[in-house]
Amino acid sequence: MIKPSIVVFDLGKVLLDFDYAIATRRIAAQATKPAVEVHEFLSQSPLLYRYETGPMTRQEFFDEVRQFSGFRGSFEEFGGFFADIFSEMPPMITLHAELRRRGIPTYIFSNTNDLAIEHIRRNFPFFANFDGYILSYEVRSMKPDVKIYEALEAMTGKRGAEILYLDDRPENVDAGAARGWQVILQTDPAKSRATIERLGLLGTA
Ligand SMILES: [Mg+2]
Repeated sequence: MIKPSIVVFDLGKVLLDFDYAIATRRIAAQATKPAVEVHEFLSQSPLLYRYETGPMTRQEFFDEVRQFSGFRGSFEEFGGFFADIFSEMPPMITLHAELRRRGIPTYIFSNTNDLAIEHIRRNFPFFANFDGYILSYEVRSMKPDVKIYEALEAMTGKRGAEILYLDDRPENVDAGAARGWQVILQTDPAKSRATIERLGLLGTA
């Protein structure tokens, strides 16, 4: 195996844990639809896809959620509820900081939306410490579509085995592996760390 020159991180379930149920409970408390239906609508509908691939604005997203759920709160309340679902995964935050200290460039590569990213920027200081951010709603393409992988290669100037990519979703890492990237399907942080050590990026003998 070649030592990669950059490390690319998925965000959700790799650096930050998240739970949409937190948002849907709070939204449903001020809505006519039950939490389970709000949850399904938010997390599985084509709506989130349209929002996270860019064609839909946050206001349009809110309007559709409100129409479906009967949510009575303001847009600001909704935005707060929708985005406040994340918590740090400490072993991964530490691992990322160690890579930075060793001068290894790191990137965020995420299917996400502007409400979530605003919230994450405000609340999680580690998020400022990356060389670049490839975000689905900005690139207008979502993993595992080819276009967002090409955007990462264009931004970083790296390709193939120079890139090490961590993600918790098999279809996403498969699309990276198909381009020759080195990949880690994250199942648990200790295993991800062990692989990164084996690749020589943490400098342990
Ligand atoms: Mg993920």
